[in-house]
Amino acid sequence: QKKAVVGPLVGAVVQGTNSTRFLVFNSKTADLLSHHQVELTQEFPKEGWVEQDPKEILQSVHECIDRTCQKLAELSVDVSNIKAIGVSNQRETTVIWDKLTGEPLYNAVVWLDLRTQPTVESLSKKIPGNNNFVKSKTGLPLSTYFSAVKLRWILDNVRHVQKAVEEGRALFGTIDSWLIWSLTGGVNGGVHCTDVTNASRTMLFNIHSLEWDKELCDFFEIPMDILPNVWSSSEIYGLMKAGALEGVPISGCLGDQSAALVGQMCFQEGQAKNTYGTGCFLLYNTGRKCVFSERGLLTTVAYKLGRDKPVCYALEGSVAIAGAVIRWLRDNLGIIETSEEIEILAKDVGTSYGCYFVPAFSGLYGPYWEPSARGIICGLTQFTSKNHIAFAALESVCFQTREVLDAMNRDCGIPLSHLQVDGGMTNNKILMQLQADILHIPVMKPAMTETTALGAAMAAGAAEGVGVWSLKPEDLSVIIMERFEPQIKATESEIRYATWKKAVMKSMGWVT
Ligand code: ADP
Repeated sequence: QKKAVVGPLVGAVVQGTNSTRFLVFNSKTADLLSHHQVELTQEFPKEGWVEQDPKEILQSVHECIDRTCQKLAELSVDVSNIKAIGVSNQRETTVIWDKLTGEPLYNAVVWLDLRTQPTVESLSKKIPGNNNFVKSKTGLPLSTYFSAVKLRWILDNVRHVQKAVEEGRALFGTIDSWLIWSLTGGVNGGVHCTDVTNASRTMLFNIHSLEWDKELCDFFEIPMDILPNVWSSSEIYGLMKAGALEGVPISGCLGDQSAALVGQMCFQEGQAKNTYGTGCFLLYNTGRKCVFSERGLLTTVAYKLGRDKPVCYALEGSVAIAGAVIRWLRDNLGIIETSEEIEILAKDVGTSYGCYFVPAFSGLYGPYWEPSARGIICGLTQFTSKNHIAFAALESVCFQTREVLDAMNRDCGIPLSHLQVDGGMTNNKILMQLQADILHIPVMKPAMTETTALGAAMAAGAAEGVGVWSLKPEDLSVIIMERFEPQIKATESEIRYATWKKAVMKSMGWVT
């Protein structure tokens, strides 16, 4: 007997660095009905470079939507019940395409890419007035991480892109813009837009006025006519132009970390979540206040759920390499065949046996912002096995989280009493237990870990003119959580953490 699905449905595109997913939720119950996932290629054409093919990304979205719709049909669910679609995406990754042909003009330069270090150095020399010029407007330190420097590099180094800009054919966007433009018609009337959360990661956006900033665009020498329109995170941007969901409005758009904050219902000032994907991102809701960190955290737009709704800000602790270290052990060292196997290896030994792994593949992000760092594995002995290295890799994710959490506790003055977590890596129970041990506070994981998708679906379903998401945060306040309690003595975790810090110091200054 098939269960009848009552009520409108909402779809969510989750476009991550590692994979693309499409998920469909029941808007009355927040139940996940069906989904499909496709893993993506990452290209490393030179040392420090990370690229993805925008066409492959778009294709993966089409494939996920089509396959999910097929799965729904097999469940006898009518896809015409899908009333809205939300988009959540990897942030900062920079795409530039030709609006006349719809073709990307260059590969997407992924957020992790380091090629712009010389660009950053020359820009930092010409910062006007005080050093705070960029940070005070954007909440971000000048770094390879953000879109403006990537775009500057492309314009400086790829002649045909510069030409397309001069001829007025080029459009710039983060992944959300590229997808929404393509899905709403592309060359046939595609809508060129982004939302405030994604815009806040470009380094061209003023997070106080919520507009593109003329002075920043001048500083980075970026022509403003290639930038997308910036709208709120929850409103109708346009309609799906083709495929199984033709005519359905796209009405939610959030950078993945903001979507997870919304999906974890962290709507109150002081609530926080940590998402473990390719990187690891701890966001702390500071409400309407734009709080600036003294300790290497970013200030970012958390969400603005409707044109007339207030903007909320967050402090963010950004860790570049989390799940990516597991993918590296799989793809580069071949010591595991699937990411899940890391848990078996680590569990077998239950200790790193004094081995520490600092995966500073892209320098170190928060709280250090140290581009000279590179990855190291240290404390090796004759006895060290791949199991210990696997364990050290998992521990590295927990130590990096501890570093940003410590910074956050000090910036905010009120230590977090527990940590809400989500993301692909949280299926790893060893990792979750280690995290509780190393932080020495409980770690809480929702039973439904697809919170990024849920956040995008909520934004889409609640948009004006859609209005199908009837659930309020209070309705979901009883989300079932799995709880991991610290199981080791605080002194033991302090000793391990201190050794980790020693290893971090050794990773710095590797490149000059
Ligand atoms: P993203 O949003 O960045 O695409 P996901 O949230 O989908 O990432 O998480 C995928 C990442 O998590 C990959 O880097 C993968 O190596 C890692 N991962 C997935 N499952 C596990 C696991 N069971 N243990 C450890 N790492 C995992």
